[in-house]
Amino acid sequence: RGLISLFMLSVMLFYAVLPVSAEISGCRVYSSCKNDKKLIALTFDDGPHPKNTPVILDILAQYGIKATFFEVGSNVEYYPDVSRRVIEEGHEIGNHTYTHPHVKNLSLAGLEKEVEKCEAAIKKVTGKAPVLFRPPEGVIDDAVKVMSTDREYSVIIWSVDTRDWAGTPTSTIVGNVMKNVKSGDIILMHDYVTKSCHTIEALKIIIPRLLDEGYTFVTVSRLIEEKK
Ligand code: ZN
Repeated sequence: RGLISLFMLSVMLFYAVLPVSAEISGCRVYSSCKNDKKLIALTFDDGPHPKNTPVILDILAQYGIKATFFEVGSNVEYYPDVSRRVIEEGHEIGNHTYTHPHVKNLSLAGLEKEVEKCEAAIKKVTGKAPVLFRPPEGVIDDAVKVMSTDREYSVIIWSVDTRDWAGTPTSTIVGNVMKNVKSGDIILMHDYVTKSCHTIEALKIIIPRLLDEGYTFVTVSRLIEEKK
């Protein structure tokens, strides 16, 4: 019994020293990162896209701001030059699986394969292995928790959803962001959408307005470092 309680005590101590974000069995999940410096992160999912991503990169460069792109491994293989440009211009690339499957339909082994293949594609093209993972549709199940803990990925969800992928009108996207934004937010947008979308038009309005309000755009890894 002495041994058992000693074991329990060491388990409790182990969890007590972990950071606050590590509630889920050692898995680090962030939907925002509180800070008092008005730092926020723009994130773009599902690319790279041969046309949209370069336009978005041009807009980000125009304002000298950094963002995070959660890329799909198969798209990285189709458009390696676009991924390379993302990294060369100081943005961050996160892992968003290889084929963008429904996570709920995957076993742990299936998810690991998806993550591994995407990681390999990103590393091959950019020379950098991603440290952030965003599950498709933001689904966090046990497989995602186990995989991300084993592979030391931070799991990144979002706190502001623009719903740009659903064809949401520009004014609604802008209103949604401007009404809800606060320091530490992670904003979800998409650079690869198959139907028509207003991401780029909205971005052109949102960025200067948020800069006017004193916000600074940083990559998600930087946002995590600056967490209070
Ligand atoms: Zn996605």
